[in-house]
Amino acid sequence: MKPQVIIIGRPNVGKSTLFNRLVGKKLALVDDQPGVTRDRRLGDAELAGLEFTVVDTAGWEDEDPDTLPGRMRKQTEVSLEGADAAMFVIDARAGITPLDEEIGRWLRSQEIPVVLVANKAEGKAGESGVFESYSLGFGEPVPLSAEHGEGVADLFGALWPLIGAAEEERAAAERAGEPAEPDDLVLGPLKLAIVGRPNAGKSTLINQLLGEDRLLTGPEAGITRDSIAVDWRWTDPKSGEVRDIRLIDTAGMRKKRNVVEKLEKLSVADARRAIDFAEVVVLLLDATQGLEHQDLKIADMVLQEGRALMVAINKWDVAENASSLFNGIRAALDDGLAQVRGLPLIAVSAKTGKGLDQMLGAAFELREAWSKRVPTAALNRWFDDALEANPPPAPKGKRIKLRYITQAGTRPPRFVVFGTRLDMLPKSYERYLVNGIRAKLGFDAVPVRVVLKSPK
Ligand code: GDP
Ligand code: GDP
Repeated sequence: MKPQVIIIGRPNVGKSTLFNRLVGKKLALVDDQPGVTRDRRLGDAELAGLEFTVVDTAGWEDEDPDTLPGRMRKQTEVSLEGADAAMFVIDARAGITPLDEEIGRWLRSQEIPVVLVANKAEGKAGESGVFESYSLGFGEPVPLSAEHGEGVADLFGALWPLIGAAEEERAAAERAGEPAEPDDLVLGPLKLAIVGRPNAGKSTLINQLLGEDRLLTGPEAGITRDSIAVDWRWTDPKSGEVRDIRLIDTAGMRKKRNVVEKLEKLSVADARRAIDFAEVVVLLLDATQGLEHQDLKIADMVLQEGRALMVAINKWDVAENASSLFNGIRAALDDGLAQVRGLPLIAVSAKTGKGLDQMLGAAFELREAWSKRVPTAALNRWFDDALEANPPPAPKGKRIKLRYITQAGTRPPRFVVFGTRLDMLPKSYERYLVNGIRAKLGFDAVPVRVVLKSPK
């Protein structure tokens, strides 16, 4: 079951309006539990990925709005039992009334976490009511306007500490019992592509990988050199683990088809095809040629498409000034590819087989980072720290508010940051956040997408 959050408050503060706002167009369910004389409404709510059931208690109150009749208490008590948290709604325009205080006292005697909601807070008319509501003793109120939808997203920040952990556990348990979603797939064979300029050694590398000591498992086993996808099995010498890899062999295809296009153009076309197919793309460089503009162009394309990218320097057996070559390429990659830092860079020899196990091991690790999901709680812990260490600027004296972050997807990892005045957020601050996600949350070499969103 999803966590339940019950809406409580005196008549006319906007409970039903808030309920409808949270539930949206989705139909509210009616629960006619025995013992409850009037129906209570249940609805499915979602705030930035946090799912819960919201319970509306409006319509339970006595017709006389100045009393808190025993009947209301009784019925509210019944539904409090099933609830994980309560939203105590007051009317910020009307200020705190004796009835609010009475409900507040009663709520404090119940064992339920409470979020204080100061509704009707749009414009200036609600300011003093918001301030007054501190006196109810539930800490900082969440000012919002249920009618206009303003500030509703802030409820996430208030509710998350109360029900977030439970909800994340529930969602994880649900996922465990269901056929896995794409995100959580036990990752299948690693889909790997090798791209690079002509003569970098792609064919030689593929031949070396698929050599006689490798076990081919694909149906195309006999004709692998010409087929587009080759399934094979690799034993990781470090762990002894046997792992499945599906390799796209574009170079083989090209040679078979005997095309006459210009080779330069062709390597880009190969890369494009490989990108469509692959999870991890290895850009193969030629140690005797170094890194050239064309390589960066291919690398950039791979990252634009959100694929995991790594770089292998081939022909290491004939490389000169090996260490300065390696460091030079490392620096040129970091300079030339702003989207990622610290791409896996590995020296290999397709001819001798040197470095190939290391390359494959790194490819599996990279795929894992590319596929991983950070729990919302951990993500927001990092986010709060990042904002505290370096608060967003206030251009022309206007505060930009960044409220929270969720991971919207994986492969590649995608994040959504919610806040206000986001159009004023400088690109440099966005980069600060992206760099933080990479460095602190383990996405270093992975292309990361961040979208900014203002709650409506
Ligand atoms: P309930 O009795 O607590 O369920 O309150 P309702 O949701 O029926 O709302 C009572 C009245 O307050 C209605 O006229 C709403 O239109 C109005 N109302 C609700 N939310 C807001 C708000 O955010 N701002 C303003 N100005 N009015 C609101
Ligand atoms: P492709 O166009 O990227 O498929 O490149 P090929 O696999 O056809 O290789 C181009 C040339 O580089 C061939 O002459 C290979 O023998 C040579 N070559 C490939 N890998 C290596 C290597 O690791 N070391 C050396 N010394 N030569 C290599």
